[in-house]
Amino acid sequence: MKWIRHILRSPIERGEKGLILKNLLLKNYRNYEQIEISFEPGLNVFIGENAQGKTNLLEALHFCAALRSFRTRKDKELIKNNQDHAYIKLETSNQDGEQKLELLLTEDQKKRVRKNGLSVTTISDVMGTVKAVLFSPEDLKVVKDGPQERRQFMDSEIIQISPRYYHSLKRYQKVIKQRNQLLKSPTITEEQLAIWDDQLSGHGATVIQLRHRFLQDLLAFANPIHTEITDNKEKIKLDYKPGIALPKDWIKFDLGELQRHFINELKKSRKMDLYQKTTHQGPHRDDVHFSINDMDVRQYGSQGQKRTLVLSLKLAVLEWMKQESGEYPVLMMDDVTSELDKRRQEYLFRYLKPIQTFVTTTHLEDPIKQYACGSVFSIHDGKIEKKEG
Ligand code: ATP
Ligand code: MG
Repeated sequence: MKWIRHILRSPIERGEKGLILKNLLLKNYRNYEQIEISFEPGLNVFIGENAQGKTNLLEALHFCAALRSFRTRKDKELIKNNQDHAYIKLETSNQDGEQKLELLLTEDQKKRVRKNGLSVTTISDVMGTVKAVLFSPEDLKVVKDGPQERRQFMDSEIIQISPRYYHSLKRYQKVIKQRNQLLKSPTITEEQLAIWDDQLSGHGATVIQLRHRFLQDLLAFANPIHTEITDNKEKIKLDYKPGIALPKDWIKFDLGELQRHFINELKKSRKMDLYQKTTHQGPHRDDVHFSINDMDVRQYGSQGQKRTLVLSLKLAVLEWMKQESGEYPVLMMDDVTSELDKRRQEYLFRYLKPIQTFVTTTHLEDPIKQYACGSVFSIHDGKIEKKEG
């Protein structure tokens, strides 16, 4: 139990500070015409009625970490109606000093990114400048919905830490798209497919290996957190379910062995691929199985159990990112506090003390009030004001 306490209390005990988002400037972003705002290093609370711009603000901040919106794949939607561009400038600080990130979104061109005043041409060069974990009611989908949501969850966390993962994932997705297009061509032969399989298995093996490692590490962090939140009542398990057939001892495979195995599996399913015109095996079919006390959560878990599981996972991601990168990311919570009972809220804010946190809410509740001294902002119709006192 002692080591559990260590993990749970360690951020506070060590007094470690992570990344800090300092200043944000938004121009023509969603319902914001122009705002400039400075954040507090600890808790930042944004209060506002529905449809005032709370999620939009978190979306803009999170965009700087993920380089894509968590709500849409179309950057165009982020530009304020009747405007032709949106601009985000974010200034941050961490142990290494100050950084400035600028993003320009236009109607007809790819997004343009500048870091410390210099243009960035390769997106992976800027990944990791801002690291953020988002916790929103939508995250329940990770547990409730289909495997796509769980792959998305793994991807959005791992790409912030591993440029190698980002690169392999992007290449894999590109190759799979091309391979599937080719499969639809009436003249395609097995030999032609073989050419793609080399690339597919190379990038795919990296994706599989890094997802598996991520889940293993995540579980080690999530379990003590979850045990504490649930008063020792629940023990969770995460099982990686790879989208290719693998022998039991595959985790001992090195990357080369995994790739060779992947190629063999692709060979085995080639006939079926040609017949059904789609690629049957690969990490695009990965899934993760969640259980609580050996019970399948997706099927049998209560709403509250699912919510708490996601909370434990997100807090575990904070620790995982710290382990991998040496510093805590920032945390964003969109409208989630009202969904948690008082005990969970208390736990959350105690836990989060050393991490810069952005919380949106429609009204101030007790546990937030207690921890939110001097950092409450009100949002009304695309305008933000700091509340005094
Ligand atoms: P809730 O409490 O309901 O979640 P919220 O404060 O989080 O509300 P947001 O999702 O941030 O609300 O959205 C605020 C407003 O932004 C909405 O009224 C929406 O119509 C507007 N909006 C979204 N995209 C654009 C855009 N591209 N241009 C202008 N306005 C937009
Ligand atoms: Mg919202």
